[in-house]
Amino acid sequence: MIIAIDGPAAAGKGTLARRIAETFGFHHLDTGLTYRATAKALLDAGLPLDDEAVAEGMALRVDLAGLDRTVLSRHEIGEAASKIAVMPAVRRALVEAQRRFAEKTPGTVLDGRDIGTVVCPGAPVKLYVTASAEVRARRRYEEIVEAGGSADYDAIFEDVKRRDERDMGRTDSPLKPAEDAYLLDTSEMSIEAAFQTAKSIIDAALSRNA
Ligand code: C5P
Repeated sequence: MIIAIDGPAAAGKGTLARRIAETFGFHHLDTGLTYRATAKALLDAGLPLDDEAVAEGMALRVDLAGLDRTVLSRHEIGEAASKIAVMPAVRRALVEAQRRFAEKTPGTVLDGRDIGTVVCPGAPVKLYVTASAEVRARRRYEEIVEAGGSADYDAIFEDVKRRDERDMGRTDSPLKPAEDAYLLDTSEMSIEAAFQTAKSIIDAALSRNA
């Protein structure tokens, strides 16, 4: 059983994916971390972010078992990740590793931008989690403030929009819902309500497969 979850930055798909994986006892991969790990390796080595062959070399060396969200969550790493994510050779290398992960038993949850469209187009459950740019920026702002940090809402909002443009506008694997994806707009829906909806979709798919 493969559950594909896609959507723009800060839509709540990570939280949803983790909760689904926990509930059903499935393995979870946040595929954004694979792009982030590649970008961080380039930044740490002082290498350029615009050389496709160099970035591909780093992507081929990413170890899926060693992805650490706390180390990779920094803003600059996310920005760098979305720049190298436009490169087809980088995507090919990471998609191959993601597909191997998706085969694990008893099931997997992968979240990202192109899971339902490119990485696992045959996944029996596809969710596209979204929310308005304003709501996503507000959530990110509150997260930072609640964690004791200081944040500038306008800067976060601009950032969310810039990231959307880059992710939706690229030629290779742009962010978009798969034709057979179930759309979950969390603008006016709690994460709990989104989870309950997702759970009933997955329960139905599991009973079809049984
Ligand atoms: O989801 P996260 O913000 O960690 O992803 C960082 C960047 O990696 C995204 O902005 C996107 O450009 C890229 N990405 C991607 N395909 C995925 C997951 C992430 O292109 N499946």
